[in-house]
Amino acid sequence: MASEEQQPQQQPQQQPQPTKRRNRIGTKNKDLYKWEPTTYELNESSYATQEYIQDRIRMDETNIDAILRAPEGHDVNVWLYEQIRQFTLELNHFSVLFKDICNQNTCPKMKATDDWLFLCASHPAIQECSAIDYFIHTLDSTSATLNSEKLFPKRMEIPPSSAKQFNSIVRRLYRLFAHAFYHHRELFNDFEAKTQLCKRFTQFGKDNGLLPKSAIIIKE
Ligand SMILES: [Zn+2]
Ligand SMILES: [Zn+2]
Repeated sequence: MASEEQQPQQQPQQQPQPTKRRNRIGTKNKDLYKWEPTTYELNESSYATQEYIQDRIRMDETNIDAILRAPEGHDVNVWLYEQIRQFTLELNHFSVLFKDICNQNTCPKMKATDDWLFLCASHPAIQECSAIDYFIHTLDSTSATLNSEKLFPKRMEIPPSSAKQFNSIVRRLYRLFAHAFYHHRELFNDFEAKTQLCKRFTQFGKDNGLLPKSAIIIKE
């Protein structure tokens, strides 16, 4: 399973000094991540957007509008890129929950109801993979795409030609939710009640024209 870095390196001695963004050893659970959110303008590191999004998730992960609203004047493609990175990270956590209940026997094909069969595009030629393999392959290939030096050489400057990748990434990632919804409803409902990740992801896809109406197959 791919992992992505979460925490930026501390910049040495910059003014003004923000609260240290670090959980000290021995910090009680309830006190974890209790630093002040950074103001976007104050934060000049190339992780500024990632921090901005993660701060809002930490404050209230169900406040979808706050998490999805870009700071004024923010570069659109950098914003979309960082949101998709964050979704990929959270979907990696989501996929771990499937390891005991979704396997070659329970879900030999990647389906959402019997109407939809999704082929895995993470291979030289698209092929049928089991649902859990589809999860792993899709998350791994998404991380590889987002970390590609060639497509995304700089985090704060996204070439328009590379931004074209966003559509297919979002469409494929959405299918993870669709499989969960139609085949592992209890797990989906539990996770969604806590995180509202599917709701946020769908909203993000719709608002930015990355998820066509016809692709949205989760109807509650
Ligand atoms: Zn399954
Ligand atoms: Zn595959």
